[in-house]
Amino acid sequence: MGKYDRIDKFGVEAMTDDEFTKKQAYITKNCKCPGCPTYVKGDAPVGYCFPPIGTSKKIHWEKECVCETCAIYKEYDLNHTFYCTRCSQVCQALKSEGPAAQGT
Ligand code: SF4
Ligand code: SF4
Repeated sequence: MGKYDRIDKFGVEAMTDDEFTKKQAYITKNCKCPGCPTYVKGDAPVGYCFPPIGTSKKIHWEKECVCETCAIYKEYDLNHTFYCTRCSQVCQALKSEGPAAQGT
């Protein structure tokens, strides 16, 4: 596993457009955000951990984050939280691990 794979947990770099669309649908379907205390009703799409979704435009106050109880979180071995306000898994990983963590 390369350095970037460790950061790109969903493997989006290697996906075709079709795989990407399917993966996004799978993640938003299984996402637990709509049941989270921090979530603002009606915000969509959820699945904020997935890189292209982006942070929420409606969620501004962090209460609790239930990501750690989510099946997607376990399946992809995620290790950050509050994706709705702080940015996606890959984005937070790059911020916390710095440019040196990026693949070549
Ligand atoms: S880890 Fe969090 S943001 Fe990602 S799908 Fe699960 S609940 Fe949603
Ligand atoms: S990313 Fe975390 S804090 Fe934000 S809505 Fe989803 S579970 Fe809640």
